[in-house]
Amino acid sequence: MSFRRPRIAIIGAGHTGATIALMVAQKEMGDIVLVDVPELENTAKGKALDILQAGPIEKSNVQVTATSRYEEIAHADIVVITAGIARKPGMTREDLIHTNASIIRTVSEQIKYYAPASYIIVLSNPVDAMTYVCLETTGFPKNRVMGQSGILDTARFNTFIAQALQLAVEDISSFVLGGHGDEMVPLVRYTYVGGIPVEKLLPQTQIEQLVERTRKGGGEIIELLGNGSAYYAPAAAIVRMMEAIVKDQRKVMPIITYLQGEYQVNNACIGVPVVLGGNGIESVIELNLNEEEQKAFNHSVHQVYRTLSYIK
Ligand code: NAD
Repeated sequence: MSFRRPRIAIIGAGHTGATIALMVAQKEMGDIVLVDVPELENTAKGKALDILQAGPIEKSNVQVTATSRYEEIAHADIVVITAGIARKPGMTREDLIHTNASIIRTVSEQIKYYAPASYIIVLSNPVDAMTYVCLETTGFPKNRVMGQSGILDTARFNTFIAQALQLAVEDISSFVLGGHGDEMVPLVRYTYVGGIPVEKLLPQTQIEQLVERTRKGGGEIIELLGNGSAYYAPAAAIVRMMEAIVKDQRKVMPIITYLQGEYQVNNACIGVPVVLGGNGIESVIELNLNEEEQKAFNHSVHQVYRTLSYIK
């Protein structure tokens, strides 16, 4: 028996793709191949070489390469899809749908052919719909195709709560349900600070403001950046998911997964709490929502169905 390092392919070597590669290399999680379009192959190779040269300083021994040829993702264990266009100020995630759906279909065909046993994590927006497109195109089992939104959205909510309370961010525990849009559902009832319900520590009006800021968290950064969307925290979220799979951590995380009746959702991919481990999505955790939460969740699901209807 011989052991080898996990192989991680990252499709799209732009802001999020390159940042994920850097974080994966720093954590020495596996060998990395970045893939971008032929016109940007040299740019991607430049980024790969730059990240590789951080290795001696970081004491990290992994390979980092870049290519535009999908043959080079052969036998990847995990493939992350960041390919596509990102939002600019004034754009919704849905504005990206036609361009990105076509890119995700092409990319998914290649993954199906060259890395048929891989686990796929989709980041490209609108991510709930793009996860569905990837699942449909690859035909992979549902435990192996998932999307990232809830870890980022939860991290934003936790950041704002920690700032408001001037307390350590790691003491905040919460999660966000639903689609990755302005209708997402931060679950206040399940939000704790060092085990204490947040509602005991902050007034309701302030909590509502933090919920609203979380929902619009992506847009706030887009406005500030002026060109492009967030990438450091999204990359950290992806790396967290990869780690849970590679290390078989069986973590409870909000992840976009294909639902067949759970949470009364049928035939759509949407963010819910799951167990993430060595088999990818190991199970979905179903919670009883109260009337208000269910209504907000239904609204979010409706938006995801509407987005999907544009491409179905
Ligand atoms: P970016 O423009 O910096 O990078 C995208 C890269 O994809 C570019 O380098 C582009 O050349 C490449 N690309 C396009 N078509 C390709 C193809 N067919 N094959 C390979 N590569 C291809 O964008 P970014 O900031 O890295 O964002 C990437 C995507 O992720 C966007 O759709 C963005 O909206 C989304 N995003 C989602 C979340 C989330 O939480 N789900 C968070 C941040 C960004």
